[in-house]
Amino acid sequence: MFLSHFFCKHALLQDNLMAVPKRKTTPSKRNMRRSHHGLANVNSVECPNCGELKLSHHVCASCGYYNKKSVILKNNLDEDSELESDN
Ligand SMILES: [Zn+2]
Repeated sequence: MFLSHFFCKHALLQDNLMAVPKRKTTPSKRNMRRSHHGLANVNSVECPNCGELKLSHHVCASCGYYNKKSVILKNNLDEDSELESDN
């Protein structure tokens, strides 16, 4: 019974041509692999118009200004924020 199990296992591996790890990855190797998985810092700058933090080279999500010009009208957002402050 042991021999049949042994041969079946190897026959399956050869048929599927599947790569199988030779041994368990140690916690040290696993952690070394994950040493590059950290999140990078977001490059945020203060909006010159309203002072909120925004992504550089992006339209300000708070006031809708870019390059000292209003490019997105934020009337709807202002009304929403007023409603939230009333509640
Ligand atoms: Zn702004």
